[in-house]
Formats: sequence, structure tokens, C-alpha cells
Amino acid sequence: MNDIDKNKKKITSFSEVTKFHGHACPGIAIGYRVAESALEKLSSVKALDEEFVAIVENDSCSVDAIQVTAGCTMGKGNLIFKDHGKQVYTFINRNTGEALRISLSKGFDEIDPSFFKVREKAFSDSSTEEDIIEFEKIKEEMIKKILEMPLDELFTIENTEMEIPLKASIYKSFKCAECGEPVSEHRARVKNGAIVCIPCFEFNFS
Ligand SMILES: [Zn+2]
Ligand SMILES: [Zn+2]
Repeated sequence: MNDIDKNKKKITSFSEVTKFHGHACPGIAIGYRVAESALEKLSSVKALDEEFVAIVENDSCSVDAIQVTAGCTMGKGNLIFKDHGKQVYTFINRNTGEALRISLSKGFDEIDPSFFKVREKAFSDSSTEEDIIEFEKIKEEMIKKILEMPLDELFTIENTEMEIPLKASIYKSFKCAECGEPVSEHRARVKNGAIVCIPCFEFNFS
């Protein structure tokens, strides 16, 4: 069995992903295919743990699929969010330094030119039950198309060079001088000479 097959075996099913996310939508389908690309092409990834880092440039539905499928999660510190509003995902293997940049090359309007029109109608104040049914139908079809499209058609996938992000650190914590709750050292602030948490620092600052 080669590495690719080994990785393929690890791919979570789409239904497990939608269960975690709460619903099926085109965004979660994109995230699922992004994770699939990363696992397939970064063939040296052995363990789906902290060695595998994802940098995501949006905070949409797709990110939930990446957390479940690629094992890159906020809590482990191997999911880095950059608020760029872009459908771009970079995966890094900390062990080898290999990095892969995946960007969505097909917009929803290119996959189905009527998608936005139907969605707008369904969400307008004057929408009818038929409009909503029509939108549900087009959404289902969009999900199916995303799941079935060849990866290289859906995305632009390229190897890239990247500085390896630091591993999540463990910080000391201090007691906030105002609310008394513990706050991690790297997020603490100094207010009138006392160590406080960010909410207390920002509240009523004088
Ligand atoms: Zn969603
Ligand atoms: Zn506080």
C-alpha cells in the first residue's frame, strides 16, 4: 500500500462531516474536497495530528470540514485563521516542510449560473414556498457537483514554500486583578499597573 492509499483510508465520510457541521451545504462540500486534496497530495502525511497544519483564509462552512477531515483544529493549534475572505487553504507538513496551496478556481456562479439568482429569490421578503423548494433543489445539485468534480478542475493546487508555523505553546496564567478570572499570560494586559484580562482592559478604560 502506498502513502496515498493509506491517506485515502483516513478520509472521513461526507455524512460524518455534515453531522458535525449541522447541515449539508455547498461550503462544507468545498471544505471536504479541500481536505481530500491535501490528504491526497501531501503524501508524506502519516499522522493526522499536530504535524499537519492548515492555514485557512476564511471562516466559512468549509473550515468545519477541514477540522473533521484533516484533523486540523482550533484547539490543537494546527488550524490558523487569516481573515482574508478568500477561498484559499494552505496545508503544511511540519515534519518535511512541504506545503500545498489550494485555491478555489470555480465560483458557485461558474458551477451553476442560476445559483445566486435562485438563492436571492428564496431569501427575499416576497419568496414563495416554490422559491424555497427550488433553492433547496439547486443547492442539492450544487453539493453533488462539488463532490463529483475532478479536484484539479475545482481548485488550483500548487506546491508552495512556507515558513513552518510554531507549535502551540503552553502559557502561564495570571489572575485578573478586576474580575478574578485566570487569563493566559500572552493575552494579559496591564491596566493602571495591574494585570487584567482583555474584557476588563477594554471595559471602562480610563
Ligand atoms: Zn454550511
Ligand atoms: Zn478580568
